[in-house]
Amino acid sequence: MNKKRSQEMNIFSLLNEIKTSSRYENQIVHIEEIPAREALYAPLKLKKQVKVALSRAGIEDLYSHQAETIEKIREGKDIVLCTTTASGKSLTYMAPIFEAVLENPEATALYISPLNALVNDQLKSFLEFEEVLKSGAGIARYTGALNEAQKRKVREGQTNVILTNPEMIHMSFLAWHHLWKRFFSNLKFIVVDESHYYRGVIGSNMANLLRRLLRVAEYYGAAPQFICCSATIGNPEDHTETLIGRKAEVVENNGSSQGSQRFVFWNPPLYLNKKGCTLRRSSFAEASSLFTRSVRAGLQTLVFTRSRQGVERMYKSCRELLRDRNLFPAICSYRSGYFDREREEIERKMNSGELRGVISTNALELGIDIGGLDACILDGYPGTVMSARQQAGRAGRSGNESLVVLVAGTNALDQYYMRNPADFFARSSENAVLNPKNPYILTGHLLCAAKEIPLRTSDEKYFGKGYPRVVELLEAEGLLTGDGLKYSTDSFPYKHVSLRGIDNNTYSLLAFEGEKSFPIEKDIEETLTFRECHPGAIYMHRGESYYINRIDHEKKEIHAVKTHDTYYTKPMIDSSVRVQETYAVKSLLHAPEVEVGLGEVEVTDRVIGYRKIQTQSNDTMSIHDLEMPPVTLQTMALWLKLPNRLQEMIGEHKLDFAGGIHAVEHAMISMYPLHLLVDRSDVGGVSTPSHPDLGDKSGIFIYDGHRGGVGYAEKGYDLIEQVLDGTLKAIESCPCESGCPSCIQSPKCGNNNEPLDKHAAIMLLHEILGKAPYVPTEKKEKHLSEVRASGAAPEKRDTGDALDRVRRQLRRETIKQEPSAAQEKKEKTFIATDENGGMIGVVSAPAPEKAAAKTFHQKFRGKKEPIKEKPLEIRIRDLGAGSDYNFRLWIEISENKENESDNEKDGNKVLKRLIIRKVN
Ligand SMILES: [Zn+2]
Ligand SMILES: [Zn+2]
Repeated sequence: MNKKRSQEMNIFSLLNEIKTSSRYENQIVHIEEIPAREALYAPLKLKKQVKVALSRAGIEDLYSHQAETIEKIREGKDIVLCTTTASGKSLTYMAPIFEAVLENPEATALYISPLNALVNDQLKSFLEFEEVLKSGAGIARYTGALNEAQKRKVREGQTNVILTNPEMIHMSFLAWHHLWKRFFSNLKFIVVDESHYYRGVIGSNMANLLRRLLRVAEYYGAAPQFICCSATIGNPEDHTETLIGRKAEVVENNGSSQGSQRFVFWNPPLYLNKKGCTLRRSSFAEASSLFTRSVRAGLQTLVFTRSRQGVERMYKSCRELLRDRNLFPAICSYRSGYFDREREEIERKMNSGELRGVISTNALELGIDIGGLDACILDGYPGTVMSARQQAGRAGRSGNESLVVLVAGTNALDQYYMRNPADFFARSSENAVLNPKNPYILTGHLLCAAKEIPLRTSDEKYFGKGYPRVVELLEAEGLLTGDGLKYSTDSFPYKHVSLRGIDNNTYSLLAFEGEKSFPIEKDIEETLTFRECHPGAIYMHRGESYYINRIDHEKKEIHAVKTHDTYYTKPMIDSSVRVQETYAVKSLLHAPEVEVGLGEVEVTDRVIGYRKIQTQSNDTMSIHDLEMPPVTLQTMALWLKLPNRLQEMIGEHKLDFAGGIHAVEHAMISMYPLHLLVDRSDVGGVSTPSHPDLGDKSGIFIYDGHRGGVGYAEKGYDLIEQVLDGTLKAIESCPCESGCPSCIQSPKCGNNNEPLDKHAAIMLLHEILGKAPYVPTEKKEKHLSEVRASGAAPEKRDTGDALDRVRRQLRRETIKQEPSAAQEKKEKTFIATDENGGMIGVVSAPAPEKAAAKTFHQKFRGKKEPIKEKPLEIRIRDLGAGSDYNFRLWIEISENKENESDNEKDGNKVLKRLIIRKVN
């Protein structure tokens, strides 16, 4: 029996064993069989040396996407290659780079990756290729891991290819560009690997960084080409063009082969708890058990979980589960925060097969080479279709069948997909959004650009229309100076720009054993330190529990000792919001007394205590008070200011108003991703029955979780009616009696989900959305709660202070003058349903016809499309206007006699046409 055959038997028998086990409770709700794909090759002329070297590496033919990409690069185009992991993306930039060096030994290329682990990986590939090719190319990495002497050697040596990360481009290549003159003058290619990673904050920063990079390269007379490699996203062309600021061509037809995959949807079973409530088992327990079974069955398996501490807890519990078979040394945990050498060792052992199982955060989602795996388990839906596909793509090795299990969490989105698995497979990956014009981000980069080469009017071609105004404001603040050419007055503005939106204020974790101490982790952000490493907290690292003794704020050290306690801790956080400035207000369509506001806020989070929770039972053992310094965040928020009438109305029904607005806040945040393509962790909320900045009226705030905001609050403000409508649907359609994690409870709540009142929330939403009054069936005891509101002004430095004023001014102007991006493109949000009102999906389009066409294409991508005799009947609801449209859609096929080149398939020339008919 060959390897392939035995593999299939393993997956087949594992699923069989699970289904026939006495403990099986019908958790499998769907199995999608994804068929294998044959490789597609295409001819391409390569330089003889390159061809020989490839052949020695065992590569005789190129996949079609590789050939297509290299051809486009040769034509001088900027390109983005959008295919799965392990489809041979590196070859598409390595071949052109080596050919360039063979032609001109002076030619240089820059490879940029968001992760150092990937830099090291690619360095190895480049060096291996060079060893057989012997082109004479100098290849080196340039990261923080090098010492000064090593760095100088790279700068001053004959290096052709440099592999690095965005931070190094910012702080070293651009800040000290005169030291890189030789390299910049000969720059031919800029490779942006994992380019889909650059979205949100890091995306908006990267876009500006690449513009600065191009500006400096062109200053030295170079004209580099961009080669971007991306995962599958919804808008590769649009995203790449925004990122690099130039036109780009997309290659996305994957020619590599792929084994078949079984994609299992697994919904944890329901059970009755001690109090008689029906609950769903946690995805954590189910995923742990599936993982250990899979490892036992001999499958190399990877589990993705959503939090760093979740990885640690699962590792510990799985090690126990595998102890009987002595398999526990064959599994391991993996996440960011570990030292590089630890991570490299895990990657190596994964590749060699020494490790049979790894429990990881999404840190392993990016293309680090760990080889193909047999099985992949997702502990909870990762938040986006794009991530889910990336994670699933880790399973599958050279033509073998692989297994993917998505274990659902209790929240609304996970449960939605368990009920509608077809929707998951029909859905296209999300659009990656970034905003290079974000004034918070642009201003800092312009100051850096001015430091690099004095700014001139013509630089508008790099930085866009808003450029002159930003220069004017920076000048007014004294940050730029000079007639004609503008110089930066700050000698090193780089420290005011944080590319990943992460503060540089980080802590190290030290473990003490008697007098001795050992460093365990470094670069733990301040916010994370306060939440997870406060005195009394249990912090886990590589499966070991540590008890946190104290934090030394001066030395930025966290002191810990090893412990064998079997509990974990959860912080209790008090959040408050102060409005700094209101930028826009409007009324709700159906409730003019409800004011919707948009503006700048300061959010203050303070850890006020923590709970000890028993690991086995998840029961709270005790609650402890704590005094920790506050952490503040300047950002954008939208809010609802509610009239006193609503509070009185809820009170009359003996419902809890504070619980109602808290519930609306939670549900709004969890339904955000359906409208705005954000992860629910990108936004936060605060609700309060009386707020000083709202004239002591009650308010619900939803804020952007990133400093300065990246546009989520503005988009939410524009779409407020849709967001509230979706929120009401989610709460109302949940079958639970008084609120559960699928509707109003939040795993992230700092107040331990108290108070919450589902019926008050429904009543409130009915009222403000202009629906028929809601009459609750059950009366509850009234209990009010208060949310403290306080906040101290943050300390600011000079340039930072002035930069903030410029950013604020620009934000004000942008909001007042420019319609939002959605309005600019005249895109509206539509909901598509079938004849029976069943949900098909949410799409944005300029008109209902376009929305119908888009839905049609999404639903039938790669499938048999409906014909005239059996058309697709759909209803499209314009969420903004509240109007419905009915359509009938089908495909008409005709033979194509005139046009020889279009739609050629298997030798038959056919013409497909989508027909859309409006029906009343
Ligand atoms: Zn519920
Ligand atoms: Zn909460």
